[in-house]
Amino acid sequence: MKDKAEKLIALAERYGAHNYHPLPVVLERGKGVFVWDAAGKRYFDMLSAYSALNQGHNHPKIVAAAKKQLGRISLTSRAFHNVLLGPFLQRVCELTGQDMALPMNSGAEAVETAIKAMRLWGYRKKGIPKNKARIIVCEQNFHGRTTTIVGFSSDPDSYDGFGPATPGFLKIPFGNAAALQAAITADVCGFLVEPIQGEAGVNIPPAGYFQKVREICSRHKVLLCADEIQTGLGRTGKFFALDHEKIKPDLVILGKALSGGLYPISAVASSKEVLGLFKPGTHGSTFGGNPLACAIGLAALDVLVKEKLPENADKLGRYFKAGLEAIADPRIKEVRGRGLLLGVELTVKARPLCEILMRKGLLAKETHDHTVRFAPPLVITKAQIDQALRIISEALAEFK
Ligand SMILES: *Cc1c(COP(=O)(O)O)cnc(C)c1O
Repeated sequence: MKDKAEKLIALAERYGAHNYHPLPVVLERGKGVFVWDAAGKRYFDMLSAYSALNQGHNHPKIVAAAKKQLGRISLTSRAFHNVLLGPFLQRVCELTGQDMALPMNSGAEAVETAIKAMRLWGYRKKGIPKNKARIIVCEQNFHGRTTTIVGFSSDPDSYDGFGPATPGFLKIPFGNAAALQAAITADVCGFLVEPIQGEAGVNIPPAGYFQKVREICSRHKVLLCADEIQTGLGRTGKFFALDHEKIKPDLVILGKALSGGLYPISAVASSKEVLGLFKPGTHGSTFGGNPLACAIGLAALDVLVKEKLPENADKLGRYFKAGLEAIADPRIKEVRGRGLLLGVELTVKARPLCEILMRKGLLAKETHDHTVRFAPPLVITKAQIDQALRIISEALAEFK
């Protein structure tokens, strides 16, 4: 069996580009918070595909909705209407409190859509001269992998070798409202920001930051665009991470758990003043808003609400965080996070610890060398967190 896994890994390495460095585990099946490899060994999934699996692997209600739709109609293109697009967009708008939504597939496409929407608004509504619109972003951001998006990344792994960068972006430190205020000029149309920087290692801004950001953006007529692809849909203990700050962004970008992990589905939601500027032919996607995606998306959102997953993330996130903080190990520098988006920063490289955790039946991935992110599906129970905490303490004890 081990032989089989090694062969499958070798096959992927031989025929696939090496743009990832996966843990040496080959998964075959998943259910709830667990995944199994081909040898039948069970693991906790503490990555949840970077928060795409908030509803857990193969949630029965989402699988049923997908099955019901498969065999009916899967793709119409937007050249025609389909029976599920309206209901899905309505649901996204109700949950985000926005007027309109524009459906795409991957997160990066939704970020690109938001960038285009903010620029368009800058020209048509704010009167910014042609081709002069600028968008402010934060250092250590992660918004995806397209050429434009990596062009404003501050991570050399992301941008080096992929230039020239798209102009029109300006980087400021994350969590610093004064820097935002200082960076705003008449040609700035938007501020694109993650409520918590997940990929950068679960960076949480100082309390009150987003209230100040909201106030500065409103005062200077700058659109506040929240990338909630990772932090949204219950992950941090509220439906959206910015709900903790009691503010509403002008645009919100969703992806990942919008499908519960069954399908790539993303969307941008905003006001009529912003998204209403798109006219036929100005933007699109062959698969965006297809009926299979809409059926899955409706079910995925329904599960989050009906099973009160944000509430569970809040309650069990606090419990998990306290449990991690109680582990006395001098190599733990800090435990931080909100809801079930937790990061444990070590004084040493985290990859070897992830390998021990894997052997012990818990999958987690290091982010930026020193931090392990623990972000299980939000359907996790208290008893399962106790088991996970036991595995984590034992792994730390073995970790030399
Ligand atoms: C994952 C992620 C993206 C990109 O989503 P893809 O579906 O991988 O393109 C963008 N922003 C944030 C905050 C993310 O976590």
